[in-house]
Amino acid sequence: MSEPTHDVIIIGAGPAGASLAIQLGRAGFHVALIDKKAFPRHKACGEFMSPECLPMLENLGMRAQIAKLGAREVKGIRLSGYGKVSTGRYAQVGKVVAPFAHGYALRRELFDLAMVETAAAEAAVEFLATHRFKALIFAGEGKVIGARVLDPDGTERQLRAAFTIAADGMNSRVARSLGVRRELPWLRKFALVTRYQGTKDLETAEVHFFPGGYFACAPVDAGLLSMNLVLDQEELARPRESWDAFLAEYLALAPDLASRLRPATRVDPLRGIGPLACRTTQQTFHGAALLGDSCGYVDPVTGEGIYFALRGAELLSADLQRALHMKNYDRGMLRGYRRARRREFQPRMAFAKLLQRGMKRPLLTRAVLGLLEDRPKLADLLVAITGDYVPVGCLLKPSVWRHALARSSWAAT
Ligand SMILES: Cc1cc2nc3c(=O)[nH]c(=O)nc-3n(C[C@H](O)[C@H](O)[C@H](O)COP(=O)(O)OP(=O)(O)OC[C@H]3O[C@@H](n4cnc5c(N)ncnc54)[C@H](O)[C@@H]3O)c2cc1C
Repeated sequence: MSEPTHDVIIIGAGPAGASLAIQLGRAGFHVALIDKKAFPRHKACGEFMSPECLPMLENLGMRAQIAKLGAREVKGIRLSGYGKVSTGRYAQVGKVVAPFAHGYALRRELFDLAMVETAAAEAAVEFLATHRFKALIFAGEGKVIGARVLDPDGTERQLRAAFTIAADGMNSRVARSLGVRRELPWLRKFALVTRYQGTKDLETAEVHFFPGGYFACAPVDAGLLSMNLVLDQEELARPRESWDAFLAEYLALAPDLASRLRPATRVDPLRGIGPLACRTTQQTFHGAALLGDSCGYVDPVTGEGIYFALRGAELLSADLQRALHMKNYDRGMLRGYRRARRREFQPRMAFAKLLQRGMKRPLLTRAVLGLLEDRPKLADLLVAITGDYVPVGCLLKPSVWRHALARSSWAAT
């Protein structure tokens, strides 16, 4: 059998793959970081990072750099629709204080490029752009020992390593080739993404709900507004003259947003992506693991995907380093990652799915938006949970509900 070429192969250089490469490279492990695209590249995204991402960027030594690139400080989320409006802020909830009173919003072209350049600057990291994953290499008993990739000329290259990590996003070919990727048919959604220049300056992100979908917007660097229109699959079946007319039709359902966009110019094409939701049945294997969106994805409404990518990389990096030091590449060595995912991510995913089920019922959505309008602290609580610094489990505490349902803001208690 050929000798390993690297300690770890990471397929996909989005926030999950790049942040894992930075951590492993700094610990002295020899990493191949592979992406099918050249950077900077476009990635469909609302481009908002929750407050809990900021300490992780700090740990990577990148927070100041991200701020310098023009990341906008996003102080909360404004929720509107069905004639109701509320704004949740990243406030203290009970005893839990937000790590920062804001998240960040930055174009993914800039954010992902900064991450990849930081990874590639590590002596132990070999960054292979425009290299496409083709297939896994297996030894006996289903053990993964590397990957076959195609270089920019289409020539096949075999890379072998102790661990091969899938960080190739929600349509993960690696997860498919391991046979663990499943669709979530009840949650088939599609998104159209674009950006505008010339809107009024916003200090919060915004979600505008209407029956069948929502708009999510975030003010990003360079005075741009990043906008996503997310729709149930059935909505796409409607006849349309053009995509521009299609967008205009939905903007008419969100008059609050439409008026904000009136003086603005759309500066990016409309790009489509979907279906958005999937899950996986297993995330760790002998010699391999799934990370970030390749593990599964629900819907962008809570804006937590970048948090899951960065936090997942922190957790997996710890287990990989231990396994590499012990020269034991069995699945059992990744149990810390598996358990932490179950403890930290599963409740958040379950909460996101619950929100999705609720959003399918316009009367319920309207009632919840009305309640949030009436009870500012409830809006803060919702935004704190989706801001990733308050655990979903706090919803089981009667005292949290007592405070959240009081008619004043948290600051007044
Ligand atoms: C419409 C929309 C809006 C969103 N809005 C937000 C938001 O506001 N905030 C938030 O936190 N999250 C948001 N998300 C989710 C967020 O974009 C993802 O969760 C996040 O990018 C996941 O990071 P990742 O590194 O796992 O995957 P990705 O960022 O998808 O990176 C995967 C990388 O793998 C590469 N790749 C794919 N296939 C191959 C292959 N065969 N070979 C080699 N390389 C390959 C790709 O080129 C890509 O660079 C949104 C998602 C969507 C779809």
